[in-house]
Amino acid sequence: MTEPILLPASDPHLDIRSLPKVSLHDHLDGGLRPATIIELAGAAGHELPSTDPVALGVWFREAADSGSLPRYLETFDHTIAVMQTRENLSRVAREFVEDLAEDGVVYAEIRWAPEQHVRGGLTLDEAVDAVQEGLNEGVDAVEAGGRLIQVGQLITAMRHADRGMEIAELAVRHRNSGAVGFDIAGAEDGFPPSRFAEAFTYLAENQFPVTVHAGEAAGVASIRDALVHGRALRLGHGVRIAEDIDVEFDADDSVDAGNDTAVGMVSIGQVAGWVRDRGIPLEICPSSNLQTGAVDSFGGDIESHPIDLLYQTGFQVTVNTDNRLMSGVTLTGEFELLVQTFDYDLDDILELTMNAVDAAFLPLEERDALAAYVTEGFNQARG
Ligand SMILES: [Zn+2]
Repeated sequence: MTEPILLPASDPHLDIRSLPKVSLHDHLDGGLRPATIIELAGAAGHELPSTDPVALGVWFREAADSGSLPRYLETFDHTIAVMQTRENLSRVAREFVEDLAEDGVVYAEIRWAPEQHVRGGLTLDEAVDAVQEGLNEGVDAVEAGGRLIQVGQLITAMRHADRGMEIAELAVRHRNSGAVGFDIAGAEDGFPPSRFAEAFTYLAENQFPVTVHAGEAAGVASIRDALVHGRALRLGHGVRIAEDIDVEFDADDSVDAGNDTAVGMVSIGQVAGWVRDRGIPLEICPSSNLQTGAVDSFGGDIESHPIDLLYQTGFQVTVNTDNRLMSGVTLTGEFELLVQTFDYDLDDILELTMNAVDAAFLPLEERDALAAYVTEGFNQARG
């Protein structure tokens, strides 16, 4: 929490942590504090790879970085194991909100899959209520500390499971008590949104907002499925939409040469055109994308990450963290990475943040109020 901010070379005065930020793609079970996991695991008799908070944090990051899917998935076994009671869910949710506020986040949509948190005997509804209680406590604690934050739940159904309709009904039941949207997550390849056609129809009939993880572990066809069958209003990651874009470079042009450099001749395919021209927001998580191999086909490093191409060609790009514990990141850190790699300045950070404001699953009046609050914060930063 207190480590010094890495200052980008281009603007030594840019203090990204103090800027008001919006987080749309952040998993509750991917953002626990290591010390909390240790405490709760001890009480629950759950064995961990380490009982030292620093070493455990390193273990999570190394597992996520290992390139091994089983090791990566094992990290969630440990977090989910300690999130099976009302008290524990509330505590994790409360701390999650406090940590976001500490990072300068003023609006967050927090996603999690209730179906993974009923092993201790909670019903799905009790689990959602427990998380909401913790979120409310977190918001109150942040306010007591002199800051403001607003949060909502994205209720996730797991793709490999068969509970889509049940989870969709759960989400709609809680629409006036904290749930702002629905999501599907988990194994993307082989578990298309069309498996949940009935659930997505029900959500559409109830005018309940949907985001779908797509374009991470699978490509353009999966994104198309999310749009057609999921009726997705946003794409979770969606980064592989760039596979539907052709860029022809001149001999000495390059995508990573910065804001003012032409990226060459760009031709946009039909699915990418739909996503860009209709302004369907992309919830991009730069560090996570590198770890999961989502951007391997572009080069697999941050310099060749297509976020800049997508941003420069007019896609509704938003910047997110995905799993702060596993990736060892914060939203501030993700913006710093982009500033350092692509030479983004305050105007770029504002534009990316306003994209997230516009994409928030909030009523128009609340989005307008959030936009005004964010703008005011950036104006103050300009001095
Ligand atoms: Zn995700």
